[in-house]
Amino acid sequence: MKTTAKRSCIIIVLIVAVVAGLTVLGVRFAVNGEEWATLRANEHLNEGGSFIAAGNVTDRNGEILAYTEGEERRYNDSERIRRSTLHILGDTEGYISSGVQTAYKTRLAGYSPVTGLHSLKKYGKGNDVSLTIDSQVCALAYDCLNGKNGVVAAYNYETGEILCSVSSPNYDIENKPSSEEIDKNEDGKYDGIYLNRLVDGLYTPGSVFKIITTASAVENVPNLDSWTYTCTGEEIVDGVKVTCPSVHGEMDFEEAFANSCNGAFAVMSKELGKEKLSLTAKEFRFGESFAFGNSETDASIFDVSAANDADLAWASVGQYTTLVNPYHMLTMLGAVANNGEAVFPYAVSTITSPAGRVVQETKPRSEVYITPEVANKVEAMMRNNVETNYGDYNFEGLSMCGKTGTAEVADGSKPHSWFAGFSQNPQCPIAIVVVVENGGWGASTALPIASEVMEAVYKTLS
Ligand SMILES: [Zn+2]
Repeated sequence: MKTTAKRSCIIIVLIVAVVAGLTVLGVRFAVNGEEWATLRANEHLNEGGSFIAAGNVTDRNGEILAYTEGEERRYNDSERIRRSTLHILGDTEGYISSGVQTAYKTRLAGYSPVTGLHSLKKYGKGNDVSLTIDSQVCALAYDCLNGKNGVVAAYNYETGEILCSVSSPNYDIENKPSSEEIDKNEDGKYDGIYLNRLVDGLYTPGSVFKIITTASAVENVPNLDSWTYTCTGEEIVDGVKVTCPSVHGEMDFEEAFANSCNGAFAVMSKELGKEKLSLTAKEFRFGESFAFGNSETDASIFDVSAANDADLAWASVGQYTTLVNPYHMLTMLGAVANNGEAVFPYAVSTITSPAGRVVQETKPRSEVYITPEVANKVEAMMRNNVETNYGDYNFEGLSMCGKTGTAEVADGSKPHSWFAGFSQNPQCPIAIVVVVENGGWGASTALPIASEVMEAVYKTLS
């Protein structure tokens, strides 16, 4: 009897051990399976460090941006397209972390948490990824940047599809500069070259921030329609001079916005105060980051907690410590364009298995930032900016709304040039953001780029 009991005991211990072992293995597989399957050592996926089994990446028109030929990862024939789509597409080494080839690496390789690499073994290739971008428009935006650093991005504010996203500096993925050359970074031409500035960029916004201050004025100033200000070219706040580029004279608030009058906004900022302006910035999601594919955007900053009146005046015109992420800017434009509801931009449309089955499809996501009343009033004023100041001839047929920015930067170099706007034309529900680093005046550098890119987008959509 004693021996039998002892044996039973041993068997139970063994069973427990086996079950425990299997559980641990199961858990570890669930947690690490994806990583194990795509380890560089796994020769199904990697040959000499390249991503041999990955599927095709195409743009919205089916133009192939990346594919696998034999044992090599290859890219579009056009250098302009290769450069302009570099950051959305990403590299195979993982330096451009938000790029599709890194963020969706396992998907491209055909890995599934259920069947592992079964599909890859069966078909010899992974999944195809279809993007929302139009590579021809991206190439045009790349031309427009003309070697300057910055970002050009346009998206459909009703569906969330990004049609254009170009980040500069970039490089030709088929002729990548050596790592020594990149590390050396002569003349700063490789500054932050692996960063997609749409996702990872944070810029002083300058006057494009007046869109938010205007929204706050609409929300909080009951007699805004009868509000007036007389600009003498400067406004003294707390002994600090807030200057305007010219003497704007007497204006109502709408005209002050169209003239981008710093003096008027300085006075308005004092009327609003820190709390109200901060609250509006919070409604517009300052301080929040957004999911972009499998990555996260940098959070915009609006912090006036330690600001005096003069600091607040500068903050209300997009200076002081305020920083804006271009992806976030697109969402704010989307909210104004779309009755207060921001649809979030995305670049990956569908992922399709080699058997032709759609295994992942992006559905639009949105959040309400502001009320329809506030959105529509701000929209009308942004429309007035183009009608009375920037010129409808720059955006023919688009019924464009917009705001330029000329953002002073700390080190005394040329200001960043901004344009942020959107079309009211129902055939072209597109919002655009252009930032040219050290590009000078918003109206003379960023606006013409927005004009050309919007025209191209309008053509492709109509
Ligand atoms: Zn002024």
